[in-house]
Amino acid sequence: ERKLLIVVTPTYNRAFQRYYLIRLGQTLRLVSPPLLWIVVDMNATSVETAEILMRSGVMYRHLAACKKNSTDSRDRGVHQRNAALEHIERHRLDGIVYFADDSNIYSLELFQHLRDIRRFGVWPVAMLAQSKNNAVIEGPVCNGSQVIGWRIHEKSRRHSRFHVDMSGFAFNSTMLWDHERWHRSNSDAIRQLDTVEEDFQESAFVEQIVEDESQMEGLPNGCSRIMNWHLHEEARNFAYPEGWQLSRNLDAI
Ligand code: UDP
Repeated sequence: ERKLLIVVTPTYNRAFQRYYLIRLGQTLRLVSPPLLWIVVDMNATSVETAEILMRSGVMYRHLAACKKNSTDSRDRGVHQRNAALEHIERHRLDGIVYFADDSNIYSLELFQHLRDIRRFGVWPVAMLAQSKNNAVIEGPVCNGSQVIGWRIHEKSRRHSRFHVDMSGFAFNSTMLWDHERWHRSNSDAIRQLDTVEEDFQESAFVEQIVEDESQMEGLPNGCSRIMNWHLHEEARNFAYPEGWQLSRNLDAI
C-alpha cells in the first residue's frame, strides 16, 4: 500500500496566483495517489482558489487562516502552514507532510522519493532569484543517505542550525503526535512554525522534530540531484490601459 502524501500549500490572491496554482495542481495530478493537497488561503477561502481546486482532479482540502498580526510582512504563509499542521494533527492524517509553496517548480521525481521517507527527509533545492540575477543551491551534503554537512549561501542564515529551504524537507506526520514511536525525549507538543525571525523559520521547526543530522535521511542517495526549484517572481505592478478591468488573479478580462 502506498503512503499518503500530504502536500501543504499556503496561497493568496495576486496576479500570479492562478498561474501558480494551476501549474502546481497539474503536477500533483500526475503523482500516483494517494495524495492530499491541503491548500490554505490567507484570511478567508476564496472563490478563485476554490474553482482551481475543484478543476484540479486532485484530492484536496481547502482551508483558511488569518495572520496573527495582519501587518506583519514577515509572515509569509507561516500561519497558514500552521493551520494545516493543526488540521493534520486533529484528524490524525497519517502520511508524509511536505510544504510546497505555490510559486515553486517540482519534478515528479521528487514526489516519488517522498514516499521513501521514514522519519525526516531532506534534499538540496535550487533557488533562482531573478531580481538578484543569481542561482544558488541550499540544503544538505550527503554521503549516501547520511547528511554530513550543509550548503550555505545567505549571510543571514549562517547562524541557523540546519540549512534547509521550506521546500527542501518532508516528514512523517505521526511525529506530530506519536512521540513514543519516534523516541522523542521532549514530548511537548511541537510548537509548529513559530513567529521567530523569518530566516530561521525552517531551522527552528526542524530542530523540534529531529535532534541532529543522524535522524535525517538525505534524498536521493548522495543528495546529488536537484528535484525542485524555488523561484522568486511576482508581478508587482499591473500595467493595463485605463478603464480596462482585470481580475486580481488574471482569470478573466
Ligand atoms: N504567501 C501567502 N501570503 C503572503 C505571502 C506568501 O499566502 O502574504 C504564500 C505564497 O503563496 C507561497 C508561500 O506563502 O505559497 C511563500 O511565499 P513566497 O513565495 O512569496 O515566499 P518566498 O519565495 O519569498 O520564500
